[in-house]
Amino acid sequence: MPHAALSSTQEALTLEDYFHVACQHLKKHAIENPANEAYTILSHLLNKDIAFIISRFKETIHDGFSKDSFWEILNRRSQNEPMAYIFGEREFFGKNFSVGPGVLIPRPETEHLLEWVMEDHVQKPFTHGIDLCTGSGIIGLCLGEELSIPFECVDTSDEALQWTRKNLEQRVNFKGDIHKMDILTDLPGKLGKVDLITMNPPYIPSADIHHLSNDVKDFEPHLALDGGVSGLEFLDMALKEIQSIAQIGCHLYLELGFGQKEILSSINLNSWKLEGWRDDLAGIPRIAKLTFLSE
Ligand code: GLN
Repeated sequence: MPHAALSSTQEALTLEDYFHVACQHLKKHAIENPANEAYTILSHLLNKDIAFIISRFKETIHDGFSKDSFWEILNRRSQNEPMAYIFGEREFFGKNFSVGPGVLIPRPETEHLLEWVMEDHVQKPFTHGIDLCTGSGIIGLCLGEELSIPFECVDTSDEALQWTRKNLEQRVNFKGDIHKMDILTDLPGKLGKVDLITMNPPYIPSADIHHLSNDVKDFEPHLALDGGVSGLEFLDMALKEIQSIAQIGCHLYLELGFGQKEILSSINLNSWKLEGWRDDLAGIPRIAKLTFLSE
């Protein structure tokens, strides 16, 4: 139900009024960091940055602000729906990606994977890439554009691939394609062999899924999160299959999670050699780089 102050047509409401109503509503529904969330909602509705919102706090709102949208966003967020789904987009690597139900929301730590690939490309240019478990396409579409090389984006989920296709439409300079494939059964022979493979596989241990925040576990696809008992069960099975699309010397860059450096060193890497790790900003070993040694 709309807040009484906001229902009144007599009163001129300031940004501060809307801010307080949003904070109260979010707090009532136990949403964490209500003030940050309230700023983000106002910033989205007014299409202005947060500094603008704060600097105009005492001003009344005139054009370009819909109370209905304000309440729709507030009510959806109060049910824990991720902001990226409500807004239909999330920024990643300086670009906007469309996202919604059925696809994983881009996380900032994935940017470390792109940075590492781009640094290596300067030393020894890659010629053709494949992005496995592509989801919204953030890794494959960004790297295809940044490196100016063809990139194939692969996923098994039809729901996720709808978002990949939508994001591909925005990438005018992208050379490459989108492929619906199951990595565990469909890879050999269909894509050829490349010198660069990237992958953000599902890596959360199954038993940890119910500890994730409600935003994640109730809304994001478990197919993109659940990596089996150890978290690396899917990867363990996939590494052998991925060899069929790797040229000798091909580099494979993987995003993994907390505590998985030890687990990766305990699984059979087949013909892959582990080159090293990069930490994320929290100091967690996040990106692993492997090289394919032999057929
Ligand atoms: N980084 C995601 C999270 O922590 C997990 C992504 C994945 O499993 N690939 O929620």
